[in-house]
Amino acid sequence: MKNSKQKILIIEDEANISNLVSTVLETNGYKPLIAKNCGQGKMMFSSHIPDLVILDLGLPDEDGLNFIDYARANGNTPIIVLSARSDEHDKVEALDKGACDYVTKPFGSAEFLARVRAQLRTSNNIPADNTPLEKFVLHDLQIDFDKHTVTLNGEPVNLTVTEYNIVVLLSKYQGKVLTYTNIIKEIWGYQDGSSIKKLQVNMANIRKKLKIVPGNNKYILNELGVGYRMCDESDM
Ligand code: CA
Repeated sequence: MKNSKQKILIIEDEANISNLVSTVLETNGYKPLIAKNCGQGKMMFSSHIPDLVILDLGLPDEDGLNFIDYARANGNTPIIVLSARSDEHDKVEALDKGACDYVTKPFGSAEFLARVRAQLRTSNNIPADNTPLEKFVLHDLQIDFDKHTVTLNGEPVNLTVTEYNIVVLLSKYQGKVLTYTNIIKEIWGYQDGSSIKKLQVNMANIRKKLKIVPGNNKYILNELGVGYRMCDESDM
């Protein structure tokens, strides 16, 4: 754990919700910051450099999805989208743009806190204590745990935090199949009805970025209906 309180930026125009979220976070040892619209959110994001962002999509000045683009152009801070929209399309779009998780209002504070902890844990603690600070090399693929970077043929692969965490997790269990549930629980800390879709979206992006074409199972094998497996040298 860090000594100083972790800063969490809440971007939400409905005061009753931002106050509730803020109170829950403060009670649990975090330092909440509130922005009332997208523009203010961007400014506070740049000036306060939060550890995590809680983002409403329906904001008065701009679509919250714009904030995700802004944040992703400026680093890998985890974002949990908080929205009344229950439409599947919005969830997928937010995740595609680089949000790490999605909470639909109304939500329970215990579940909400579990999601916050999971995001802060994965973004701060990978590599964890049990991960040797060195490199993972598989053919042309290299993971530098120290620098948090992945390269392919020496070229950097631009992964989101979630995508990076999934690749690192699979590399830790190289050669073993991790089920969808294994991966989901490790990465997000909980599982619900949209978890598999969320994992599939992330995995499709990872495969695209690692230039894995369908039928050519390099690096990460898709064990249909079961899960995923990082190849051994013998698979390549
Ligand atoms: Ca709103």
